[in-house]
Amino acid sequence: PRLANQIAAGEVVERPASVVKELLENSLDAGARRIELEIEDGGVKLIRVRDDGEGIAHDDLPLALSRHATSKISVLEDLESVASLGFRGEALASISSVSRLSLSTAREGSDSGWSARSEGRDMEAVLAPVAHPRGTTVEVRDLFFNTPARRKFLRTEKTEFNHLDEVVKRQALSRYDVGFSLRHNGRAIHSLKPADNQLEQERRLAAVCGPAFMEQALYIDREAMGLRLWGWVALPSFSRSQADLQHFYVNGRYVRDRLVVHAVRQAYRDVLFHGRHPAFVLYLELAPASVDVNVHPTKHEVRFRDGRTVHDFIFRTLHKVLADVRP
Ligand code: ADP
Ligand code: MG
Repeated sequence: PRLANQIAAGEVVERPASVVKELLENSLDAGARRIELEIEDGGVKLIRVRDDGEGIAHDDLPLALSRHATSKISVLEDLESVASLGFRGEALASISSVSRLSLSTAREGSDSGWSARSEGRDMEAVLAPVAHPRGTTVEVRDLFFNTPARRKFLRTEKTEFNHLDEVVKRQALSRYDVGFSLRHNGRAIHSLKPADNQLEQERRLAAVCGPAFMEQALYIDREAMGLRLWGWVALPSFSRSQADLQHFYVNGRYVRDRLVVHAVRQAYRDVLFHGRHPAFVLYLELAPASVDVNVHPTKHEVRFRDGRTVHDFIFRTLHKVLADVRP
């Protein structure tokens, strides 16, 4: 069963950033209002995520780390050749199979917190009582210590940190109501308080995207045909060095969807005669039934039921906004 996890881990755990993504999602799923991240060496040595969510009940703890078996693969060597396998609901198991993982957790009103740890593929989860405030702390140490093939693909500390930081930023811009902090090698990188009005949101935006973006950005909020598009678009004069500042969320979920990207680019190109590096943080909201956000859990693709309408709405909305402010 441990083998199955290492295979699944290949899909879901590519680098420290993927661990952080899964752990942050778990904390948000648990209703956390504050999430503290502490990492060392770009996340390879340590990733610690502490949240104030609902915690995990003692009896559910072994289950949370539990594994699904697969009959498809029998030897570890095949690991690299497996293209895709189901892995949903296996993030913790997958991560723990390629790291030294420990978890401490406590529920509201319980006498004691509980900790569990597992290490690599040989160990069972071991439970022990521990003092912990309501919430959960997951510690992931020595990522890929037992899978040298995977460790080989890790890049420099700085590169891994940048990937990881990008994941944190994406989450921070998807949940303004949640506080996020990030420390790297003891240094404070982000300290974002929960924001519940536009002013506080823009403060967070400035902290995450840089004050230059915020100074240039235009706030928009349009609604039509059951679709709502809101957020911030940078004016065309905005510095081109911020090429990667393109955040698009569909129903709160970060996406990097072809249809969406095309609609945005098209609007910029149409108004400004070039589509170079538009910078934006945009939120599309629509009826959940009109979109499938689970096409692929890591590739950020979505499938709209009526893609044409969505494309037109995004295009027209941005087109109008940009045309109005055209220099
Ligand atoms: P999934 O999130 O798909 O259910 P995971 O392996 O990521 O699978 O997590 C397994 C389970 O462990 C979750 O369903 C949840 O019950 C529990 N869990 C994990 N992280 C947390 C957390 N931070 N707070 C509360 N429960 C958690
Ligand atoms: Mg999960």
